[in-house]
Amino acid sequence: DAMADQERRFRESVAAMATTPVGPRRCAERARIGDRFANTPDSDPSLPATRAWARDALAADPHTCTSPVLSTPDEVDAVVARAVAAAPGWAGRSAYDRAQVLRDAARALEARRGELITIMAAEGGKTVAEADPEISEAIDFARYYAERGLELRTGASAHTDGSRFTPDRVVLVTPPWNFPVAIPIGGVLAALAAGAAVVIKPAHPTPGCVEVAAEALWEAGVPREVLQVVRTDEREAGRALVSHREVDTVILTGASETARMFAGWRTEHPAGPRVYGETSGKNALVVTPAADLDLAAADLVRSAFGHAGQKCSAASLGILVGSVARSERFRRQLVDAVRSLRVGWPHDLGTTMGPIIEVPEDKLRRALTTLEPGESWLVEPEQLDDSGRLWSPGLKEGVRPGSFFHLTEVFGPVLGLMTARTLEEAVELQNATAFGLTGGLHSLDPDEIAWWTEHVDVGNAYVNRHITGAIVQRQSFGGWKDSVVGPGAKAGGPNYVALLGSWSEDGLPQ
Ligand code: GLU
Repeated sequence: DAMADQERRFRESVAAMATTPVGPRRCAERARIGDRFANTPDSDPSLPATRAWARDALAADPHTCTSPVLSTPDEVDAVVARAVAAAPGWAGRSAYDRAQVLRDAARALEARRGELITIMAAEGGKTVAEADPEISEAIDFARYYAERGLELRTGASAHTDGSRFTPDRVVLVTPPWNFPVAIPIGGVLAALAAGAAVVIKPAHPTPGCVEVAAEALWEAGVPREVLQVVRTDEREAGRALVSHREVDTVILTGASETARMFAGWRTEHPAGPRVYGETSGKNALVVTPAADLDLAAADLVRSAFGHAGQKCSAASLGILVGSVARSERFRRQLVDAVRSLRVGWPHDLGTTMGPIIEVPEDKLRRALTTLEPGESWLVEPEQLDDSGRLWSPGLKEGVRPGSFFHLTEVFGPVLGLMTARTLEEAVELQNATAFGLTGGLHSLDPDEIAWWTEHVDVGNAYVNRHITGAIVQRQSFGGWKDSVVGPGAKAGGPNYVALLGSWSEDGLPQ
């Protein structure tokens, strides 16, 4: 029948894709798969076929990476030299011109939405529900930073107070794999808006996401020398890039350990770039007796298990205050919500929680497989298949103050519950970690909200909302304490672009 025929043709084109070099035709195929992913409602009778197609398409290697792999410091020098040579041309264009390129980039990213969804699923293990808004975030960055770039006065057009902005020449972006499009492209767009040339080194698991998104930016008119994508397999080359004296700023989003490693390299190369980093978090959501408990349960579970907890913004702790801590009903609600998550691979459209990016080791393995004194599982995590990457979500209670789980970022699908007698005590627990990235409060009491907002030590404090998914311009994103390196530039906020350069006050313009 018609559906079988359609499926056969699709399978043929998927098979052809596997052997066709990357080119416009293949891109169009990938876009088609992604669009079907995003646009097939559960009620659509073709859903089973769509799932089968998607599985085959992903198995057929949806993208062959083409960006150069740098393995020696000489190769790094050549890439940086290319950026240095291209920088004056880009900085010399008018801010209006650059803003127009960024607006065109927004449209080009939109046009590649389906393709990007497919590759984010394949490389990054993102479900469609997580990947789709991430592309919207990248588009928001493009439009927002275009406007911020227009506010800077560069070259001859100093501000009326005499202040003048000189963009960085070269910015290096070193993004993570957990937001493989929005974070890399956000950093790139900010640097471009400032007037700098950019080198981007994608995270190891997700180079294709960055290549496809960069393709959109090149199409929109960003010169290829102004935006270069490079991979580094060798540690030596990575280190040479990150500490290169011709790089002005490194934008790092990643674990605190990576930030410390970069800082160590920088001590050895004092003339190297400055580092702006957004790093780890250990985030808690506090629920008081004045909360709407249905909403609190839903937001806690969403914040903890979205992308299998692999967000630096994720809720790792729920701190239950007073009667909420004793509420059997609330506990049952959480247990039910956690059990209702459907774990699977992203090409199954029914999946609500995807895989862990790599077989868990160290801290995450410990969090998934062991309990500390006082703790007990309400829902015990289980490894679901031989890949070692599919784990069902874990929920535990009895996390004690000062314990491993209270203080350590584990970056995976485990939520621990703590209890507090008062809101003051809850905030003490919330502030006790070395980090200060996100935090939440569920309470409908205006006095509690005011008190909490005043006392919580986090960059992004959310009230009566999940604590992931900061929205560009409305919730500029970035933390305090060990969650930040550098001046605390917040992504998607008003000051980010203006930090990618230097300011001088050289007298009033004529
Ligand atoms: N901006 C993301 C959010 O608000 C988190 C970024 C990250 O995990 O690095 O959820």
